[in-house]
Amino acid sequence: MSLCRLLPNLGGPEGSVRRLYAGTVHSMLLYGAPVWAEKLDATRRAKNAMHQLQRRVANRICRGYRTRAGVPVTDGVRRALRVHTRRALIREWNKRLDPRLPGQRTVGAIQPCLEEWLDRAGGGVNYDMTQVLTGHGCFGEYLGRIQKKRTTRCHHCSHERDTAQHTLEECVAWAGERTELVAVVGRDLSLPAVIRAVTGNDDGWKAFSSFCSKVMLQKEEAEKERERTGQRQREMEQDTDGGVPPWPLGREHACGGGRRGASPQQIWIRGRRGGDGDT
Ligand SMILES: [Zn+2]
Repeated sequence: MSLCRLLPNLGGPEGSVRRLYAGTVHSMLLYGAPVWAEKLDATRRAKNAMHQLQRRVANRICRGYRTRAGVPVTDGVRRALRVHTRRALIREWNKRLDPRLPGQRTVGAIQPCLEEWLDRAGGGVNYDMTQVLTGHGCFGEYLGRIQKKRTTRCHHCSHERDTAQHTLEECVAWAGERTELVAVVGRDLSLPAVIRAVTGNDDGWKAFSSFCSKVMLQKEEAEKERERTGQRQREMEQDTDGGVPPWPLGREHACGGGRRGASPQQIWIRGRRGGDGDT
């Protein structure tokens, strides 16, 4: 019984530790064997007891079950193995998430609760949430980085860097939408805190989704309007000096894929049961 608790089939120590325990048990079991082996061999009952014990120890090493010889594995065992394998895979995935890779803001926020994030029953990630989570979207900093705009400035409050975090946490233009969000998820709007607050919390998830949709829609509309104005301006300049517009126009260019297109980031951040959003 003690050995079963020390060496459970699911989880528990690795193979080398299991072999060490088995070696210790066998040393105790076979102490003085040359003296009593002959007598034991002559008694079937004692011999069976010895075999039974050795079999139990062997099972602990190979994570086997007492029923493994000729008895089918039950559905319960299959379920347990599936859960165990999935957890092991998620742990391994978590270990491989390299903090030096790009996208650390998103990875760093989801990593501490990766298993809960993947296991969440409801709440899909829609296009607007993806933009806020990844920073890839209608933000001055991102549009500047991919050379769709010349400035990283926020057009809604004149902050010098319009980022996803600025939009979520600071930009005064979204104070009303933010008040609704804070009422549900709390005042800490750092991305790890928001992820923690909304994972496994339907109300929190809805509030975050609603904030992202309302704000990103307005940002995109404003960006479209600026493009229209800019296009008219450039067309007027072309008419006078034959110049060429410096970059392509249209939301699909300005906002990295457009509202209907799924960005690559959406694939891995979708929940187990898929999304309820635009994708
Ligand atoms: Zn702003």
